[in-house]
Amino acid sequence: MTMTCCPTESATDQRETSETCANEISDQLCTNCESQSRPVSRKTVLLMLKPHLLEEAMTGTYSFCSTRGCPVVYFEEQGSHRFTTDDLRIPVGMKAKIDPIPLCYCFGFDESHIRDEISCSGATTIPDRISMLIREGLCACESRNPAGVCCLGEVNRAAKRLNASRR
Ligand SMILES: [Zn+2]
Repeated sequence: MTMTCCPTESATDQRETSETCANEISDQLCTNCESQSRPVSRKTVLLMLKPHLLEEAMTGTYSFCSTRGCPVVYFEEQGSHRFTTDDLRIPVGMKAKIDPIPLCYCFGFDESHIRDEISCSGATTIPDRISMLIREGLCACESRNPAGVCCLGEVNRAAKRLNASRR
């Protein structure tokens, strides 16, 4: 399953497993956990921040930290601004520890949906259902996913992990 909602130009590159279009790695290391990060558009940042913080992010270039245990979500590449999970209007699935742990921000699927489906029927149809919607061009990952990338990568990873932990 290599489909994403990302622009097809990246598909022509020599990129292996385009599970998400987040193969793009930023040079910047998270200013908190020092892990690798991904560039994120300021539009995405502004769509996630709580309203009282909007003015703080009107300038600058931001990166997204996807490290599970790190509270920092966005940090400014050439500055000291950073925003943590508490500064966002929505929970960040990769960093959430309690339900709901969002996976697909476009269509509202969270981990519990996949978990329940697997415990009821032994398998999950959710990644396929999301893939179908993406194929129809109906997703809105760039505006809804806090990483600004296609949700499907994280959905597939979670499905794999939840399937494995069941056995
Ligand atoms: Zn971090």
